[in-house]
Amino acid sequence: MENTNTIKYLSDLKEGETGVITKVKGYGAFRKRIGEMGFVFGTMVKVIKKAPLLDPVEYELMNYRVSLRKSEADLIEVLSEQEAASLEMKDFEGTISSQSTRKTLHSKRKSINVALVGNPNCGKTTLFNLATGRHEKVGNYSGVTVDIKTARLTRKGYEINLTDLPGTYSISEYSPEELFVRKHITNDLPDVVVNVIDASNLERNLFLTTQLIDMNIKVVIVLNMFDELEKSGAKFNHRALAEMIGIPIIPTIASKGIGLEELLDEIIAIDEENEPVYRHIHISYGSHINKAIELISLEIKKNKTLTDKYHTHYTAIKLLENDSVFTAEIEAMPDTEEILNCAKREISKLEKEFKEKSSSQIADAKYAFIRGALKETLKRKKDQTVEKSHRPDKFLTHKWLGFPIFLFFMWAMFQSTFSLGSYPADWIDAGVSWLSDLVGSNMGEGPLRALIVDGIIGGVGGVIVFLPNILILFFCISLMEDTGYMARAAFIMDRLMHKIGLHGKSFIPLLMGFGCNVPAIMATRTLESKKDRLLTMLIIPFMSCSARLPVYVLLISAFFTKNQGLVLLSIYSIGVLVAIMMSLIFNKIFFSKKEAPFVMELPPYRTPTLRNTVIHMWDKSVQYLSKMGTVILGASIIIWALGYFPRDKEETLTRPETIQVAENNLTNQSVDSNAETVDFEIAKESEHMENSYIGKIGHFIEPVIRPLGFDWKIGVSIVTGLAAKEIVVGSMGVLYHSDLAADETSVNLQTKLQQQTYTRGPKAGQKVFSPLVAYTFMIFVLLYFPCIAVIAAIRREAGTKWAVFTMVYTTAVAWLVAFGVYQIGNLF
Ligand code: GDP
Ligand code: MG
Repeated sequence: MENTNTIKYLSDLKEGETGVITKVKGYGAFRKRIGEMGFVFGTMVKVIKKAPLLDPVEYELMNYRVSLRKSEADLIEVLSEQEAASLEMKDFEGTISSQSTRKTLHSKRKSINVALVGNPNCGKTTLFNLATGRHEKVGNYSGVTVDIKTARLTRKGYEINLTDLPGTYSISEYSPEELFVRKHITNDLPDVVVNVIDASNLERNLFLTTQLIDMNIKVVIVLNMFDELEKSGAKFNHRALAEMIGIPIIPTIASKGIGLEELLDEIIAIDEENEPVYRHIHISYGSHINKAIELISLEIKKNKTLTDKYHTHYTAIKLLENDSVFTAEIEAMPDTEEILNCAKREISKLEKEFKEKSSSQIADAKYAFIRGALKETLKRKKDQTVEKSHRPDKFLTHKWLGFPIFLFFMWAMFQSTFSLGSYPADWIDAGVSWLSDLVGSNMGEGPLRALIVDGIIGGVGGVIVFLPNILILFFCISLMEDTGYMARAAFIMDRLMHKIGLHGKSFIPLLMGFGCNVPAIMATRTLESKKDRLLTMLIIPFMSCSARLPVYVLLISAFFTKNQGLVLLSIYSIGVLVAIMMSLIFNKIFFSKKEAPFVMELPPYRTPTLRNTVIHMWDKSVQYLSKMGTVILGASIIIWALGYFPRDKEETLTRPETIQVAENNLTNQSVDSNAETVDFEIAKESEHMENSYIGKIGHFIEPVIRPLGFDWKIGVSIVTGLAAKEIVVGSMGVLYHSDLAADETSVNLQTKLQQQTYTRGPKAGQKVFSPLVAYTFMIFVLLYFPCIAVIAAIRREAGTKWAVFTMVYTTAVAWLVAFGVYQIGNLF
């Protein structure tokens, strides 16, 4: 039993002595850094040289030398050379690999320190007595004198040191007990924390658990009073909950001695890192708090002393909670002003916006997490009284009503997006034309005017008309987020999304994709799992964004006289179908590993304020506007230049007589000849376009798109659409107003498209467009390369590799599907 006295730390070894590492204490960044250096379980370390003041010490491991501070070496437990020698180590090569030796070494390790934490009266002491055979007082704990009881027991060769801590509802700063428990965890560094929870009162008990999750420590949950839970008739899928939160859960009835063996085995398993369920999750605190945590974390990461002591995420949350004891501790550490200033800024931002203390906001988010976790795993016998702020859940997430209500909201959102948005869109359209006329008439002819009018105003203006629709869509989405309904929508969709290998939360970004893919890609940040984030990003481009709508409207009104709405719906549906198929395929190829499920938070319903909703809408819109200002502007200029140059070719077209006459007599120019002038200008422009670089690109890619039934002009439109799909219609306007004889008066673009014929090649004389070609074209526009801004967004979120992949695969899918549609359609 004096085993514990012989526990050696790396710092205890003398110069020239060797030890084998049996345990690395400490958290987060420290463990990671030390692990990367090779200080992991089973590694042999030799002390090379101790500095005069014993700090730092130089060590040799795996044939290279590193130095550690004494404080660091204090956290590494070792087995002395003699003890190590007594082990079977034939295949020893610096680190131990054989399974049996690892086991021996594990059991040689002296002890596992376990702390029992939990709410008052959850049965900790009963469990402690049961495990240790002691008879500590059982009952409600109270009083300020905080004393702890420790006892030792042995199991499977391990010595387990069990510590019974005072009961607390939380580990914040409110009471001496809470502080005491927190200090014990952060300073005494127990190897495993056993979180005892009262199964008959899960909501309240799990609150403490969420704080332990933040700390990133090894936790085992004891689901005590399991008898009470069963007596109440409730059904609790604790295995599902364990998977979601990444913490093993052991049901026990401490008063009857049931479950103790399993608990002890679990403690050993988790300490040996031999527990598949165990993983560290981040609780999602909602986009605003998450963002604040992210910003504070960035500052914290610059401070090594701090990251070695506490898990970065935990430090950030504690600071954001404005925990005075914790903040004071950080203040006392060197170089922390920036961190604290950042935290202060974020706190005041949050409190100003939500008019609530940041700590209550965080507590609310923790309860949202708990509620979401229990909603999926706990079925109570009869509906117990629901808190007032959650009463709407009775309907909104109801088994039968939930879905129709949800569909209604979706329909209302899209309807208002398009119908309400069309008025301001018309005004903006008029404004853009006015501006372009104004500039056009006040500048001399030449490349500069062409650049400003056609390139900049034409390009950006064509896109900005969609701003009202986008604003309304974002307003609706912000409203759904602010009221708390968005979380329910994700909840309702969860089962369906699982069928295609995604998570309910992916639904929100996908939905936003119908408005604009760019903010949708950004919204994937709310997903916890990397796989879900990536997969969602990869299929968002198939959600037909509002920029593609003008193309459909043009082609459908030109080539489909009946069932126009249905045709449009079919396009959108094909997008969704392709997204589902791709999701299933990617799941098979890239993400075959099954991922653990996670919690979907159910925040309380709130009455949104107009001010906040508008602010949130604006935040999202700024992302869209910045796309306008940068990517679209740049692309518009490039496309304009490709279409404008080279300028040196002689024009082959001569002006018709009538126009020349009319121009000689400018004062009484007739409406008729005016139209002809316009037509002539367009015809000239079109001929120029064919000879321009972009025309050459169109001709160059013609062989590739011919099997889809497209001519070179469609090719040019497709190429221009790379910048933004809004531009496709504009390019078609320029290209197709032309081939017809100039004497014909201006006919609108739809008619022009219908009359369009091939002028050359085997199909000369035949019509270019048929309903089938138009449909194939729409499918292609739907599916191919989303637009530069989306690719840029994917690159920012997932890296260059995935951005390039998206570019290539979406276009390949578009070609294949369009090819299939055209060729099959041709058979009929
Ligand atoms: P502590 O405050 O967490 O230390 O809780 P205690 O160990 O003092 O237990 C509080 C009360 O719960 C005692 O009356 C125990 O007998 C009772 N208790 C403990 N475990 C169980 C259990 O699994 N089932 C039931 N029904 N009662 C239990
Ligand atoms: Mg007790």
